[in-house]
Amino acid sequence: MNYQTILEEIYEQIQPELTKGKVASYIPALKQVDADDFAMSIHLLDGRSYNIGSYNKKFSIQSISKVFTFSMALELYSTKLYKRVWHEPSGNPFNSLIQLEYEKGIPRNPFINAGAIVTTDTLLSYYKTKEKAFKAINNFINTLCKENITYDEKIFDSELKHGYRNQALASLMKSFNNIKNPIENTLDTYFKQCSLMMNCEQLAKSMLYLANHGEDPITKEIYINSSRAKRVNSLMLTCGHYDASGDFAFHVGLPGKSGVGGGIVAVVPKKMSICVYSPRLNAKGNSHAGTKALELFTSKTKLSIF
Ligand code: GLU
Repeated sequence: MNYQTILEEIYEQIQPELTKGKVASYIPALKQVDADDFAMSIHLLDGRSYNIGSYNKKFSIQSISKVFTFSMALELYSTKLYKRVWHEPSGNPFNSLIQLEYEKGIPRNPFINAGAIVTTDTLLSYYKTKEKAFKAINNFINTLCKENITYDEKIFDSELKHGYRNQALASLMKSFNNIKNPIENTLDTYFKQCSLMMNCEQLAKSMLYLANHGEDPITKEIYINSSRAKRVNSLMLTCGHYDASGDFAFHVGLPGKSGVGGGIVAVVPKKMSICVYSPRLNAKGNSHAGTKALELFTSKTKLSIF
C-alpha cells in the first residue's frame, strides 16, 4: 500500500473541514495556535514513517498524556489500580462531576479527567514527590519517542489558573479518599503532563508499543506486558473520545485517544500507529478534521479493526 499517496489524498479531501469547529478556549493559552492547521503521521512497525502537513509543529498533547500515565500506573500497580479507577465508558463529558458523586469518588475510566487525575495521583504516591513523578512521566515519553520533550510553561500556568473543574474533581475525589496526595501536588503533575509539547511524528512514534503488544518493535524493549497493552488499547477504543467514544469506534474503528489540544493518536494493532493534528474541536471536544481524516484513512485502507 502506498501510504504517502493515501496521506496526500486525505490532505486534499480534508481541506473543507479545516475551518469547521472551534479551538479549545477554556484553557486560554490553548487559543494561541493556527486554527486551520493540519498534520498527519504514520509509523509502521518496521520503522518506516510517512507524514503530511505541519507534522513537525509541536502542540500541547493534553489528554493524550493519559495513555502514557495509565500505561505506567498499570505496570506499577497491575489490577490493584482498578480499585481506584474503573474501565467503563462514562457517556459523559471529559470534565463531568456527576457520576463521581454517586459512584463514591471512583472515576469511570482513566481517560476522563477524573480518572487521569487519580492515575497521576498513584504515580505521585510511587515516586514520592511531584518533581520525581513528572520526571518519570517525561522520561517514559522521551524513551518512547526517542527525543527529549518538554512542557510549555504558559499552557501549564493557564491550566493552573483556570482549572476550576479539575480542582473540583480532585476535591470531590479527595473527600472520598481517592486522592492520596495533597490536591495541589497531584494537579501540578497532571497539568504538566497535559502541557507537554510534541509534534505528530513524535506522537505517532511514541504509540508504536501499543501497536506491538507493549514492545518497542525496533529496540525490542518491553514497556508494558502484552495483556496490559491489550487493556490500554481496549480502553482507547471504548473510552478514548469521552462521550463520543462510540461514535469514533463507529466511524473510525480503531483504538484512539484525543486531546483538547487537537491531537488524536490511533493504533492499528500489529501494523502501525498514527497521529493526526487539527486544533478545531467538535462539540464533544475531539479534533473535528482529525476524526474525519482518520475515518478517511480506515475507509481507504480498510485497516479498521472491524
Ligand atoms: N488538561 C485538560 C483538562 O484537564 C485535558 C483535557 C483533554 O484533553 O481532554 O481539562
